[in-house]
Parts: sequence; structure tokens; C-alpha cells
Amino acid sequence: MDLLEHQGKKLFAAAGLPVLANAVAVTPAEAVEATRRLGLPVVVKAQVKTGGRGKAGGVRVCDTRHDVEAAATEILGMTIKDRPVEAVLVEEAADISREMYLSIALSRAARGPVLVFAREGGVDIEDLARRDPSAIVRRPVDPLLGLCDYQVRDVLAAAGLPRKSYAGRALDATVRAAWSLYLESDATLLEINPLALTQDGVVVCLDSKVTVDDSALFRHPDFAALAEASADEREARARRAGLAFVELDGDIGVMGNGAGLVMSTIDQLTAAGGAAADFCDIGGGARAKVVADALEVILSGGHVSAVLVSIFGGITRCDEVARGLVQVFGETRVDVPVIVRLDGTAAAEGRAVLAEAGLTGVTVAGSAAEAVELAVAAAHGEWPATVTSGGGD
Ligand code: GDP
Ligand code: MN
Repeated sequence: MDLLEHQGKKLFAAAGLPVLANAVAVTPAEAVEATRRLGLPVVVKAQVKTGGRGKAGGVRVCDTRHDVEAAATEILGMTIKDRPVEAVLVEEAADISREMYLSIALSRAARGPVLVFAREGGVDIEDLARRDPSAIVRRPVDPLLGLCDYQVRDVLAAAGLPRKSYAGRALDATVRAAWSLYLESDATLLEINPLALTQDGVVVCLDSKVTVDDSALFRHPDFAALAEASADEREARARRAGLAFVELDGDIGVMGNGAGLVMSTIDQLTAAGGAAADFCDIGGGARAKVVADALEVILSGGHVSAVLVSIFGGITRCDEVARGLVQVFGETRVDVPVIVRLDGTAAAEGRAVLAEAGLTGVTVAGSAAEAVELAVAAAHGEWPATVTSGGGD
């Protein structure tokens, strides 16, 4: 789960990371009102879950209330990387002398958290990594030992800040607080870019990017509530149904049991010339209700021209899956072809359930490979020729 900048900064403030005073506004009038409290100059920033807001014009430093109103009006009307801006953060402006980069991220390669620091921040870190790899300090952190003193000293040395200086001490405390927060919030990513040094030598987090491990959300009811509030309706619905769901750009809805199966199905679709509309994992042992919810979430995307259901039954029973599909057809109108592959536990029973229901538009494929082929053909409008209503008017 990704947090918005202002949500991350609330966690930062509570964890003792230095952030400037700020307020969230959803209208230009609220932005102006917030400015009255904060004092000029302020920065008005688009609150969307994507980077590159600066480049897209979603971050504006304002010197007058009139600027604030104009910036808020413009930014609240923007769409950045397909995400409409629904709120802005109004924050005291910093007088920046230097922009640095700090992050802690769970790394597959390091099999654990890695602390990354760069003296030069604000920019795209991948860019810097290509231009000058030596400018980046990368230190794997042993989760049992925690962050070690020498690792913090490495960061200070890379920053060129003496340990006894005011800014050096502030950076030291910031790195340690970031580690504690990363650990306590079950984050998989905590990124501060830029971590700024101001003209008066103060260290301050000007941006926040925090991703919390979804599997740990049960330990953080407060984050789960945030997720509900800020997720789009589809994501929220998928979460409530217990699905692992990610929206993708293509037009073939994909449902499977197990992340590996879903990913390999998506790869096969791509290889066959199709494009997945989503990643939807119903998990192990899913009952009919979960399957029905999954199909409804997939179809609610609006850009789906075929659905591919690939089940390799283990603890998941194919007859439960079939019953879930039948349930949806009984409740809603499904007007795209649905291709189903059922193998493993209770596959024969599952196929029998589908055959008996005789759902229009549903085809049971003989193999996973055939299912992929049929789904791609269906999405291209090549097969079947026409699909009529899926029953239940
Ligand atoms: P991002 O582009 O989505 O990563 O948004 P950021 O929050 O990182 O802001 C982009 C850039 O705006 C930063 O790198 C800064 O150069 C600038 N910026 C952000 N906040 C302030 C501020 O308080 N004062 C000034 N002068 N510039 C800021
Ligand atoms: Mn940034």
C-alpha cells in the first residue's frame, strides 16, 4: 500500500523526522486559508501517488496568496500520469541550499533492507546511478542488528557534513529516525527525495514516499483505514474481498489462484500478442464468493474485452470456482467472452457445474495454453463471432 505524501509526512512527524508545517486542501479557498495560518511563502503540491510531480508542474512555490489561489486552482484541475489530483498539500516553503536523497528499501538482491543515500538529490535517483554510481552510498542493513553507527557515519561522510556540526547531527538523527519508522511501520519503502539542507543549515524532508507491506496491514488498523479512504473504489473493493489486485493497461481480465500462476499467465498472454487488464490473485482455497467478487472487480474496469480464468486446483477447488462464476452470471449481465481453464482438484466437477449452467459466452478450454490463445483471439474480436447476454436480466 502506497501512502500519499501528506500521509507519509504525518508518520514522519510522529517519528521525529523533520518536516515543515503543512495542511491539506481540496479547494483553492482552503489552500488560501491554510496559507493564512502557515505564512508565506508556501509550496503547493499535488497529492497523487506518483513521482515526477515537479516535472509535471504539480509543485509550485508561491510568494503571494494570489499565487496560492492560482496554483491550487491549476493543480487541482490536473491529471498527472492518469491520476486526477484531488487534493494539494500546502507547506511552508524551504530555502534550499542543497537537495540530498535518502531511502530505505526492501531489496530482493540484498535479501533485506538497504539504506541508500546520495549527496545529490531531488533528481531521479536512477539517473544519478547511471551518471555517477560512486555518488550513491548503498548499505544493506541487517534487520536483527539494525542500523549500525558506522553506517550512519558513512552517510555523514558522503554528505560532507561533520558529525559535530548542527546539520551533521540533524542528518544523523534523521537517518536513525527513518530506520525506526521503516521498521515500526512494516514499510517496504521509505524514500525522502529531496532531503534538503536549508540556507540556515537545517535538515528537512521535503518529500515522502512510503510503501507499507500489505501483508502487515493487520498490525496497522490506522493505515488500513487510510487505504480505504484513499484507494480508488475498485482497489478498495478488491481489498475488502481479500484479493491481490493490480490494475494493468491491457484489455484481457486475468484471474488465477496464486501469484506465480497469474504472473505466468500474464506473460503467456503477452507472448501470444495479448495484454492483461489486471493482475488478480484469488489466493489459495478461495470459495465461490471470492471468485464472484473477483470477476465483478475485473469487469468493473470498463476496458475489458475478454476474461481469462486460469485455475490450477490444489487447496482451491475447481467446483467452488465454477460456482462463483455461475453466481456472477446469475446476478449481472456479462457481455464479454470468459475463457476458463480448470485443472487439478475437482476439475471434472467444476467443468460439470459450468456445463450444466450453460452460461452464454463462457468457454472451457482444454489446456492453459489453449485458454491463452482463445482469450487473445476473443480480445481481438476474432473469436467467438458474437457474444450475447450472459443471462440474468
Ligand atoms: P516530486 O517531483 O513528485 O518528487 O515532488 P517533490 O516533492 O520532490 O518536489 C519536486 C521539487 O520541488 C523538489 O526537488 C524541490 O526542488 C522543489 N521543492 C519542493 N518543496 C520545496 C520547497 O519547500 N521550497 C523550494 N524552494 N523548492 C521546493
Ligand atoms: Mn520527490
